[in-house]
Amino acid sequence: GILVHQIQSGQVIVDLCSVAKELVENSLDAGATTIEVRFKNNGLDLIEVQDNGSGISPENYENVALKHYTSKLSSFDDLSSLHTFGFRGEALSSLCALADFHITTAQANQVPRANRLDFEISGKLRKTQIVAGQKGTTASVEGIFKRLPVRRRELEKNIKREYGKVLNLLHAYACISAGVKFSVRNTVGKTKNVVVFSTNGNRTTKENIANVYGAKTLSALIPLDLELEFEPSAPMRCSGVGGGDGQSNQLVVRGHISRPVFGEGRQTPDRQMFFVNSRPCGLPQIAKAFNEVYKSFNVSQSPFIFADFQMDTNAYDVNVSPDKRTILLHDAAALIESLKTSL
Ligand code: ADP
Ligand code: MG
Repeated sequence: GILVHQIQSGQVIVDLCSVAKELVENSLDAGATTIEVRFKNNGLDLIEVQDNGSGISPENYENVALKHYTSKLSSFDDLSSLHTFGFRGEALSSLCALADFHITTAQANQVPRANRLDFEISGKLRKTQIVAGQKGTTASVEGIFKRLPVRRRELEKNIKREYGKVLNLLHAYACISAGVKFSVRNTVGKTKNVVVFSTNGNRTTKENIANVYGAKTLSALIPLDLELEFEPSAPMRCSGVGGGDGQSNQLVVRGHISRPVFGEGRQTPDRQMFFVNSRPCGLPQIAKAFNEVYKSFNVSQSPFIFADFQMDTNAYDVNVSPDKRTILLHDAAALIESLKTSL
């Protein structure tokens, strides 16, 4: 029943980062070109993501927050050629279980009317209400983890650090999303709706980086542009989806990295963003490899890194963790050796 649903949901949505990630990815999947993320009290009271994407079609109102409902996967074969972030239909249903969750949405032909959708804990649609609104979707998460008291207390205790982490994640989405105007606001006490950072809808990731980190950071960057071949350390696993005839061990790394400057400046590892096929993700072993290379040059600062690893989808698993933030590279060791050599 509900309890099991809450426990499972707590494995999909583990922290503020998971909330932001799921909502922002839904907005990107909906083709948004403007995304605004709003926090109240650093996210403790509210995390809300507004987009100007396609909106939700009325025949899906009943389903959107039901467990395993997704509009993004038409057949199992699609898994091998997946171009959307989402495909499991777990995020909205989990948010219903863990917080007060509602959506306001309008498709182009409904404007200036929009529909506010309220859901039960189970994800069932409780009521709909016509309100004024623009094209797109706003998803609002109030009181995250209010139904998992231990998790809630933990979050309250660490809110500064958690809020810092979620901002770093949003930096990564804002920088990688060329053509999307991104803004983040926070309301704490009397400082209402302060813009934390924003981008201008630039065509390039470089301009996005300038918006987020400043022109000074940008001027210290050089292009990162590597093509790697790496020897598999173990026989390849076949995914079994889409006929999988083995995999290519070729990899392209594109992005921006700070010029190694001896003994000068200081940058925090906060300014290191990794992506796999443009999907932000943590790659701790790879981060370590970069940092080791810089150290070996006798460079004291840790580098600014914006690195997108473009590779065959058979070369990694997105599915290893329910929150989809950890990506397992099938041949991390070989890849890292190859990366060190080319750097
Ligand atoms: P998934 O993204 O895996 O499909 P979610 O639980 O994140 O699952 O979302 C469920 C469904 O709700 C999506 O498949 C989509 O149809 C709809 N949806 C969610 N967020 C948005 C949005 N911002 N714009 C348009 N549709 C959305
Ligand atoms: Mg989703």
